Amino acid sequence: MIGYARVCNQCLSKYPEIRTYDDLKRFQLKKLQQAMKEKNHLKEVFTIQRENIRPERDIFLRIGIDDTDTPYGLCTTYLGALIALELSKIKSIEFIDYPYLVRLNPNIPWKTRGNASVSLYIKTRGEILEELKERILKVVEENLVSGFKKTQPAIVFYYSNSLKIPKELKTIYQKALRDVITVEEALEYVKKISNGVIEIWAEEHWARGIIGALAATGAFFNDYTFELLVYRKRKRWGSKRFVEKNSVEIMDRLLGCLTFDNIEKKRLLITPMGPDPVLLGIRGDVAEALLLGFNILEHEDFDFWCIYKTNQGTNAHVIPVDELCVARLYWTIKVSLQVEEVLKEGNKVIVKASDGISKAIINFYAPTGMLKVVAEKLLKGDWIKITGAVIGREKDYIVLNAEELTIERLVPEETYKNPFCPKCGNRLKSKGKGAFYCIKCGFRVDNKRKIIILGDRKLDENKRILPPPSAHRHFTMPNTRQHFAIFKERGLFPNYIVYPFCGYQKVPLSQLKKIRIPWDIT
Ligand code: ATP
Repeated sequence: MIGYARVCNQCLSKYPEIRTYDDLKRFQLKKLQQAMKEKNHLKEVFTIQRENIRPERDIFLRIGIDDTDTPYGLCTTYLGALIALELSKIKSIEFIDYPYLVRLNPNIPWKTRGNASVSLYIKTRGEILEELKERILKVVEENLVSGFKKTQPAIVFYYSNSLKIPKELKTIYQKALRDVITVEEALEYVKKISNGVIEIWAEEHWARGIIGALAATGAFFNDYTFELLVYRKRKRWGSKRFVEKNSVEIMDRLLGCLTFDNIEKKRLLITPMGPDPVLLGIRGDVAEALLLGFNILEHEDFDFWCIYKTNQGTNAHVIPVDELCVARLYWTIKVSLQVEEVLKEGNKVIVKASDGISKAIINFYAPTGMLKVVAEKLLKGDWIKITGAVIGREKDYIVLNAEELTIERLVPEETYKNPFCPKCGNRLKSKGKGAFYCIKCGFRVDNKRKIIILGDRKLDENKRILPPPSAHRHFTMPNTRQHFAIFKERGLFPNYIVYPFCGYQKVPLSQLKKIRIPWDIT
């Protein structure tokens, strides 16, 4: 390990100059700058036209992007924000919704960081459609890097005279969110789309980014949150981020449950660790609250900012299952299990549990904090509802990494004590085989049983137990937003866009405009 990064021995011997975390950051930046000098081109690798678009009528355009980041920097949200800024300059288009930051299956091993893709949804007119696509492609190509095997960017345009998202694109989103899907499989769904035009642009027809770009194009959120992302000046990329801690504490206190995962004790959670261009991200349920928070924060100069609507913090990746046997590798499942054994292995706690037919090994690692502490106190016979990522199989066991836990039923903790002496009240001594005697008064008795004392387990049933915010995954739904989730899922939360939702400077709250979203997007 060098800093937060895992570097293989082969690379370490190839680049002996990397000794410290700062060396690594300088090295990453150099690689990125070299790669960014090269010109990159995407080509149209797949097109299907299922509709004769009528240019004189409104055209609804969805743009999906993925896999534009490298291990040395950049990130797909950076490009999404640049496109949002570019589109904001065009008077004749209308945003159907905020830009979407679409998190996909967090367990797939080939993600760079948080498996994020991005989409934008606009209403436009036929006469500017071609020019629009060209402008978007230009922004993408100017900010792409090639030459990294892991980076396989793609951009998808889906347009139609109808507002509806085809069900096939929605299916790709749902599969990519919770399962694993191949490019070929995704394209099979695309071929079944019956209206609109779909264009896929990539460097190669097999580019993996096609999956995420299609999924982002089909993304729809029942529950959602927002993230206001602020991007750094290019000259600062790779250097230490400056965000004033005190201002984050003030923002956190002032905004309460309107935002989440800002700070833990003295550790800032709004700033990422890696070499990406993000300075900070404020997450929360109400877009105006994020803008207020942004105005409170003190930090280094920034380049631009953008508010994304997102499935982060919604547990959207979780698949509830009744039986363990249906679980597949890389799924995140939620299942009721009965505890069979609790073991400690180094820094982790392992709970073996069963649904009556199949068995699971559940890992609770040290960073999961309270989750691990509670797991250690579980007893054989307890029923738990566990949310965990399926990471493999070990003999007859499915192996899960725990993400959250709710205790459904606790068995009583029984301790056995000797009875009291009926003559003097002293606790009796055992002579074995049910015989007891009193050392104070000499009383003796045969065939007597020990007393069972039911202990207080000091654990709560039906309470969601989560890791501390610093160990939250992007999808983890904090307890503080459960009531927001209910309102949003039922469509009871006001649906509007706050303008501006992206820009180069901070905006006073008095200058914000709220516009209701008149469309039913889902
Ligand atoms: P960043 O967060 O900085 O955007 P990342 O973690 O999103 O980085 P990517 O570089 O986008 O990582 O890599 C993820 C790749 O995996 C993409 O090519 C995406 O198309 C693909 N992918 C995403 N979800 C799935 C899935 N469920 N099945 C198969 N491939 C997937």
